[in-house]
Amino acid sequence: MANAMFVVTFLSNKFGGLRLEFNGHQYMINSRRGDRRYWKCVIPECAARLNTHHEFITKFVHHHNHEPDAVDVKVRRIMEKIKQRSKEETKPVPAIYKEERCLLRSEEFIEFIGQ
Ligand SMILES: [Zn+2]
Repeated sequence: MANAMFVVTFLSNKFGGLRLEFNGHQYMINSRRGDRRYWKCVIPECAARLNTHHEFITKFVHHHNHEPDAVDVKVRRIMEKIKQRSKEETKPVPAIYKEERCLLRSEEFIEFIGQ
């Protein structure tokens, strides 16, 4: 492999679409061709793009014009985990939610849940 490979995290958003997370930045799919995916930053004014082949980043295009949103990424990760756990465990969802919420006590999280 000629390119330096970075493994990325995929997250699904509340509409069932796929998001990609890398270094605290989130990307949504722009287009796809075969196993390749072309992603753009979720911030509309930002020109940053990246390309992936399977779960590996193959190319970076432009830089972000903003800081990564670490809290948002963290919240989405926890939501993913709750979803996953509710499928695998017999524990009621509110109990799982409570456990996971203890891991992230922040106003942003409470706001997010309140939506
Ligand atoms: Zn960006």
